[in-house]
Amino acid sequence: MQVCIDCGKVIEEGDIYPSRLEAQTYLHKACDKKRSTNWQRKTGWGKKNYVRNSKKLTENSRRYQQRLKIEAVRQLSNGTMACANPYNQHKEPYTDMRALTIDHINNDGAAFRKRLFGSNQRGASTYICRWLKKNGYPKDQFQVLCWNCQWIKRIESLKGDGKFN
Ligand SMILES: [Zn+2]
Ligand SMILES: [Zn+2]
Repeated sequence: MQVCIDCGKVIEEGDIYPSRLEAQTYLHKACDKKRSTNWQRKTGWGKKNYVRNSKKLTENSRRYQQRLKIEAVRQLSNGTMACANPYNQHKEPYTDMRALTIDHINNDGAAFRKRLFGSNQRGASTYICRWLKKNGYPKDQFQVLCWNCQWIKRIESLKGDGKFN
């Protein structure tokens, strides 16, 4: 006969989880549940909290990525926060952050990603921004381009291949 260590009452046969019996932590099933509920409340664990925390985490990392990108754009644009405008597409400086990208000046983006990650991994802009930060934002290799200018550059660089002309 065992007595519950939480409520002090006798534990009837079967009213204890086998693992507790083995560990000689004598608890009613009900008292056991109460313990884990209290623990969940105290530690902020549990599904609801998990979802809330992971949302917060995603939010934080998104903000961190955004900050990294803003810093890269600031550095590479000499503080203008604008597209480098190599084809005179913009009369006014183009500064919409949503459409600004970090461009590899010598079109070696794929090779660069391969060097950095061992594969030509797309969607690696956060890593590139981090790499830029670590390496002092080399302006001879990178510039800020908007998608519009990025696209024109792509077409221009394909000239001669007969693909886009
Ligand atoms: Zn109990
Ligand atoms: Zn542009």
